[in-house]
Amino acid sequence: MTERTGMSWRVAALAVVAAVAVACATNPATGQREFSLMSEAQEVALGKESDPQIRREMGVVDDPALQQYVDGIGHRLAASTERPDLPWSFAVVDAPAVNAFAVPGGFVYLTRGILAHLNSEAELAGVLGHEIAHVTARHSAAQYSKQTAGSLGLLLGQIFVPELRPFGQVAEAGLGVAFLKFGRDDELQADDLGAGYATAQGWDPRGVASMLETLGRLDDGPDRKGVPNWLSTHPMPADRVARLDARVSSLRAQATRELAVNRAAYLQRVDGLMFGENPREGVLRGNTFLHPDMRFRLEFPQGWQVQNTPQQVVAQPQGGGGYVFLQLVQPGQARSLQDVAAADLGQTGLQFVEGSETRVNGLPAFVGTFRGQMQNMGDVVLRAAWIRHNNQVFRLAGLAGTNAYRQLQQAVDGTVQSFQPLSAGEAERIRPSVLELYTAKAGDTWESIAAVPGQKLVPAARLAIINGFSPQERPQAGDRLKVVIEGR
Ligand SMILES: [Zn+2]
Repeated sequence: MTERTGMSWRVAALAVVAAVAVACATNPATGQREFSLMSEAQEVALGKESDPQIRREMGVVDDPALQQYVDGIGHRLAASTERPDLPWSFAVVDAPAVNAFAVPGGFVYLTRGILAHLNSEAELAGVLGHEIAHVTARHSAAQYSKQTAGSLGLLLGQIFVPELRPFGQVAEAGLGVAFLKFGRDDELQADDLGAGYATAQGWDPRGVASMLETLGRLDDGPDRKGVPNWLSTHPMPADRVARLDARVSSLRAQATRELAVNRAAYLQRVDGLMFGENPREGVLRGNTFLHPDMRFRLEFPQGWQVQNTPQQVVAQPQGGGGYVFLQLVQPGQARSLQDVAAADLGQTGLQFVEGSETRVNGLPAFVGTFRGQMQNMGDVVLRAAWIRHNNQVFRLAGLAGTNAYRQLQQAVDGTVQSFQPLSAGEAERIRPSVLELYTAKAGDTWESIAAVPGQKLVPAARLAIINGFSPQERPQAGDRLKVVIEGR
């Protein structure tokens, strides 16, 4: 959770789409004539508008050397494509989910989660080449046009409640343009084109196949930021790797120079990379949310799903029926917390029902109930607490339709009452996990490596997958491997 600046992007994106005209054009990567809903200028405009929003919402990994390394390889690959002149940019975003995605116009993003699962520069070039291909072959532009045409109403509805991002509906939220789902044909084409781009720049195209194998072994849900995993945005046709074999063989046969894998060099680059949640944005331990930088903790009700993004934390009971969400509020000129609350809700049209200044675990607060109407939700009740802590004001609110609210009220009040400061000692104990390199010894198994003291509890099978093995394969003595340890 960090501060945020609002919803202008989604409105802007709609304007771009509204200006889109249908035209027939030649696909630059495939050479085929096709209906194009977006001109190249429109693709670039959409990318340039989305990029700052994606960087802000997801956060960018604070490691200039790593960013430069990925950007450098991305630019080398892009130079050999059919569209070298797009304003290409490549960034590592601060998400633990394992995924990569591209936005029309040449904006490509890798999560730090996917970097942790790659094992060579050839695999990195494979992922980048694949995403570059979704751009050069206009897959995302075509998908975006199709999808947006069908969901304009939904987007408009959500502008009214901009901070709510229902679970499982990431595609309708601000990052929708990044998380489009591609079809089988698009995926196969991106594999082929990507392998070609990688080979043209001197990387072994077998990296595309091995990275697909690793990603195919993972089937996690979205991470707490709502970033989906690779398989949910890049469907994996059953014969995909086998089919790629022929293409890889012919590319290797035609190569005029020795092709690079660069495993050791890649592993050096990811040594020390954060793994899993970034505790600076808050961590969940069971249903307890702890924020070491902002120094607070709170308890969401048992069994609720909790989603933590840089802008907010949202919790929802299984099966829906409302939300509880936590955000930072800009207090502006308002002095009392009641004034802060009034200013905060000023634009929503919600009417004050009852409420008063109070204290929550010793912290000054204003807790109140409000009623009103919201588009797509009808009559709603909002119960919210504005809590002042560490020179900041937090709004912790529950929102539901009038009928569902009765069930929600107790959960909202319980969550509000659980908000309390975090001690320095507790904050200090919340540390990130990081990757470290390890050389396998004779007799090592994934279980024995995972059980070494000082390591974070990453299941043995996951350790195998991170290192590009299937859990049934065994590491060999002398193998350089990635392990996960507690960082500082
Ligand atoms: Zn793909």
